[in-house]
Amino acid sequence: MRIARVALDVPLGQAFDFAVPEGLEPVRGSLVRVPFGRLAKVGVVLSRETRTDIAPERLRPLESVVDDVAPLAESDFALLGFCAAYYQRPLGEVLHACLPPRLRQAKRRRIKAPATAETPAGPFPSPVTATARQEVAVELVRSGFGRFHPVLLFGVTGSGKTEVYLRLIADALAAGKQALYLVPEIGLTPQLESRVRERFPGVAIVAAHSHLGEGERAAAWLAAQSGAARIVLGTRLAALSPMPALGLIVVDEEHDPSYKQHEGLRYSARDVAVRRAQIAGIPVVLGSATPSLESWHNASQGRYALARIDERASAGATLPRVRAVDTRADIPADGLTDGLLRALKARLAKGEQSLVFLNRRGFSPVLFCRACAWHSACSRCSANLVLHLKAGELRCHHCGHRERVPKKCPGCASPDLAPVGHGTQRIEETLQAALPEARIARVDRDTTARKGALAEVLEQVRGREVDILVGTQMLAKGHDYPNLTLVGALDSDCALYSVDFRASERLFALLTQVAGRAGRAEEPGEVIIQTDFPGHPLYAAVARHDYPAFAEAALAERRLAGFPPFTHLALLRAESKAAGEATRFLREAAREAEGIGKDIEVFDPVPAPLERKAGYERAQLLVRAATRAAMQPFLARWKAALDAKGERRVRWSLDVDPQEA
Ligand code: ADP
Ligand code: ZN
Ligand code: ZN
Repeated sequence: MRIARVALDVPLGQAFDFAVPEGLEPVRGSLVRVPFGRLAKVGVVLSRETRTDIAPERLRPLESVVDDVAPLAESDFALLGFCAAYYQRPLGEVLHACLPPRLRQAKRRRIKAPATAETPAGPFPSPVTATARQEVAVELVRSGFGRFHPVLLFGVTGSGKTEVYLRLIADALAAGKQALYLVPEIGLTPQLESRVRERFPGVAIVAAHSHLGEGERAAAWLAAQSGAARIVLGTRLAALSPMPALGLIVVDEEHDPSYKQHEGLRYSARDVAVRRAQIAGIPVVLGSATPSLESWHNASQGRYALARIDERASAGATLPRVRAVDTRADIPADGLTDGLLRALKARLAKGEQSLVFLNRRGFSPVLFCRACAWHSACSRCSANLVLHLKAGELRCHHCGHRERVPKKCPGCASPDLAPVGHGTQRIEETLQAALPEARIARVDRDTTARKGALAEVLEQVRGREVDILVGTQMLAKGHDYPNLTLVGALDSDCALYSVDFRASERLFALLTQVAGRAGRAEEPGEVIIQTDFPGHPLYAAVARHDYPAFAEAALAERRLAGFPPFTHLALLRAESKAAGEATRFLREAAREAEGIGKDIEVFDPVPAPLERKAGYERAQLLVRAATRAAMQPFLARWKAALDAKGERRVRWSLDVDPQEA
């Protein structure tokens, strides 16, 4: 018999057997079109077989072999098989997740094979002479070409990490290899792609990220797979692109939370990249000014090599001076302290630019009735509706619900409704009122929804058409503005008393990154943090630019509390429309877990941080293990037991190495 065993993206995804008609010769890795129910689906051939358990009358023939896509390689199977096992997902789903949407369609037009041209071997001269520290970093990575060699590149903001990456990529190209260059959010770094293209003229470079059209994404993927593309520059989804001649992986801003996918295959592209480098036997560079505590710990344990760059690269550029403004003494008027306003005025007078950072969009986070204490809450979520004054709407940032701003209080009909707290819109207004001559631009998800909008604003900033930039964390990353000398950070205190054990790590990273936007050329930079706790050790460490001290203290706390990187976590999430069902399911799951796992600690089910979302009640259950070796087999058995329950009333998912716990 001629049988193909095919992985399909279906729930509980086992492999399915199909008869292979005469004339078709699919091999392991081939994409095939198969009948499934009344539909056709695209699957991946796992093996050819000569017998099957399927009864002959139920065995269906596969329809065709997808012949404009080459079969996946063994190295792809190794990587995707790891992802499936580690993140507890069916292999069919993972294979599917690796394919761009166009290639998963059963019905589509043929795609032209990628043009294989071009590849100049260099040299690709750099416009700058490397600093001594950059040289050392490059040498350290270079010494590990051709073997698994993970390197943490810990370099302060502006230390020229990009230059280090580009030199290493040039090496990989010269050796005839491909390079994978991962960044957190490519939409935010339009400068980077052109910089890479300028540096490697004539080299086939593809960008791979979710802003591309389907056709472009498929073309990029095929070019990576065929080897035609020598550099793949992309976001987390690029971490899985097939690359037959991969010689180097770079993960820039390796600490960034957006490397973690939050649905379906909940993988960390950073962790997968390290594993991929191990499978391929190549170096991987993890770069950051504020490494994740996991990576820092790995480096301090000697599992990763460490390269440090403590100084800014361009001549004369120094790290900004950071100071706290005590908001208990200098009480903010409509969000802004006198101290910050004076500093903004001084920059304006000198024709220098400033950035005001606030991690909350909208006008104000809640609308409040002064007569009866009614406040704007979302009826479907345990969250407040945010006032968006320009649009005249209250909006839920969790479920997308929108309604008109009421003219009178829905509770008592009083007209005395007041916005409480500040979002970027309101700060923009305050600034404009206080500094009428300033040209102000706001950057957040509301102002940048349109494709290309962000790039336009950033271009205006570079062209000095903007004096003050107000915005959310979108502004914290990667941008380089020589004329920007002041950063003001508002309302960061809330992270100091968050229940999330990663909140302080995130805050330190965010403040350091946003501070890193100031004073990147000759003009010295200054950072002003408005806070109720000017003496807080976290702010003190930010002010000293002392990540190692911060990391040491944070790691000591993690060790005491038994949190990662000293332990390993998995989170079972459940949600249901019916009250109590999610918790009921988690209690059963906890009992199941206790039966299976030795050396596993099972916590009590608790409400999710956002307890209700879009009408669903949500709860979660944390499990903890001292080692991966204990966690992994436990998870496999637990997942199988949960699958076997056939739960219908509750939607659930397992998150391995959760980033929010
Ligand atoms: P990072 O990614 O570490 O924050 P960048 O790579 O963006 O830093 O570099 C910061 C600035 O320093 C950029 O303007 C870059 O052109 C410049 N730069 C990098 N390396 C050098 C060098 N060796 N000599 C002079 N300028 C440099
Ligand atoms: Zn009222
Ligand atoms: Zn809502």
